[in-house]
Amino acid sequence: MAKELHHFIGGKKVAGKSGRFLDVYNPTTGEVASKAPLATKAEVEAAIADSQRAFTEWSATSPLTRARVMFKFKELCEKHADELALLVANEHGKVVSDARGSVQRGLEVVEFACGIPHLLKGEYSDSVSRGIDVYSMRQPLGVVAGITPFNFPAMVPMWMFAVAIAAGNTFILKPSEKDPSCPLRLAELMLEAGAPPGVLNCMIGDKESVDTILTDPRIQAVSFVGSTPIAQYVYATAAAHGKRVQAMGGAKNHMIIMPDADMDQAVDALIGAGYGSAGERCMAVSVAVPVGKGTADKLVEALAPRVRALKVGPSTDKDSEMGPLVTKEHLAKVKGYVDTGVSEGAKLVVDGRGLNLQGYEGGYFMGGCLFDNVTPEMKIYKEEIFGPVLSVVRTESFEEAAKLPTEHEFGNGVAIFTRDGDAARDFAARVQVGMVGINVPIPVPLAFHTFGGWKKSAFGDTNQHGPEGVKFYTKIKTVTARWPTGIRSGAEFNIPTMK
Ligand code: NAD
Repeated sequence: MAKELHHFIGGKKVAGKSGRFLDVYNPTTGEVASKAPLATKAEVEAAIADSQRAFTEWSATSPLTRARVMFKFKELCEKHADELALLVANEHGKVVSDARGSVQRGLEVVEFACGIPHLLKGEYSDSVSRGIDVYSMRQPLGVVAGITPFNFPAMVPMWMFAVAIAAGNTFILKPSEKDPSCPLRLAELMLEAGAPPGVLNCMIGDKESVDTILTDPRIQAVSFVGSTPIAQYVYATAAAHGKRVQAMGGAKNHMIIMPDADMDQAVDALIGAGYGSAGERCMAVSVAVPVGKGTADKLVEALAPRVRALKVGPSTDKDSEMGPLVTKEHLAKVKGYVDTGVSEGAKLVVDGRGLNLQGYEGGYFMGGCLFDNVTPEMKIYKEEIFGPVLSVVRTESFEEAAKLPTEHEFGNGVAIFTRDGDAARDFAARVQVGMVGINVPIPVPLAFHTFGGWKKSAFGDTNQHGPEGVKFYTKIKTVTARWPTGIRSGAEFNIPTMK
């Protein structure tokens, strides 16, 4: 019997009451690992009420106290890092070492949030007029919510709740129902770290939960990460209900390879960034853009044997470079895209569709696929595949190559590999994409910078973590103060001007 998961509300495990469950699979074996309860509107509303109760007390604690909870949480996550990584690997399918890295990248945001006393410092102007001072402060919003995708069940929740909670908000996390065990464990660890019950509530749910979050007037802000159609829906619905929203969507990340690039480095970069985590990363490189025929021929020749040699295997096997995809449906969707690419006329240089892993026939495995001669009109170029499929689009010039990511509807990440500083600088300045790598294939900014794409890869104007995260989860209040000795007598009927 698969074990039944629970919600985590008010510092306790709470059994789901809806009677609706979703099977959570181990993608390596294809077996049902657990059953996730899907919350009803009423259950989400009860969680919101609990978060609101917790807000009064939590927002009144000093930033230093909140920072100390984050320090303790970081320590606990480090102590349990192997356990957290295994929870991610067993439900998501990425290999354990990669899962461990994703926990670490989330923890870096916790480290950033440990600096919250400094980050919340306001501004002060002394004597803006005689006897009058002006100062500003950043205050928490109240109950805020995060809705997260399947591909980073530890890191993306930490991007959000670490900053939000350190800033004094209480947080409702609605993680992906496909791999909820790690986020539930994070909520338990926050409690153990000293966050009072209700500061981090974690609800498992689907559209019904999301819609309740988006429309409930007690939720002040919504942070979303997931696919573009849902990001757009979340942005529009939550904003229409008066909430602050940041909604990150899908991606199609290009990597341009200039003729002067170090080809070995470029190939290594493409193998890691294209096939790591089976391509299920919003910053995965899915389009390689060599400039010039010579560069393209060399690139494809070097890539093909490397893609064929990828070690695909169970997530828990130390030798695996790439694990299974997350679900049977997703595997079928990715293979469907490969079929489409073939029928569109792209050249399938490496075909991983038929991979059969002995002993793991029920797992959601496929091998890496490599397409050459992909053109911008093809569906496999336009749409996000989110699997281990790399497309090579050949171009004649730097200008032609640079135009591709700029004109693509997504604008999450992009990279250029070159030794030419001028070309790199010009590219970084002009490209219409939010995160740019120069000889760096996956330019995910560190926690003290900020993460966010452009165009259909992000809706709302404030990015994840870094100073932008603090801004998103706080509102500014400006106080103009004068003490009685500075007050002149008599009513003033004109708009006050400072003298
Ligand atoms: P998804 O959009 O299917 O799900 C994301 C969240 O939305 C989940 O919590 C899910 O329960 C909820 N959801 C799904 N359908 C819904 C609906 N109809 N109404 C309301 N809520 C709904 O995304 P996913 O498949 O879990 O994640 C993969 C996607 O996330 C990819 O497109 C990837 O590029 C993107 N992603 C983007 C970033 C980024 O920062 N830009 C980071 C990671 C992942």
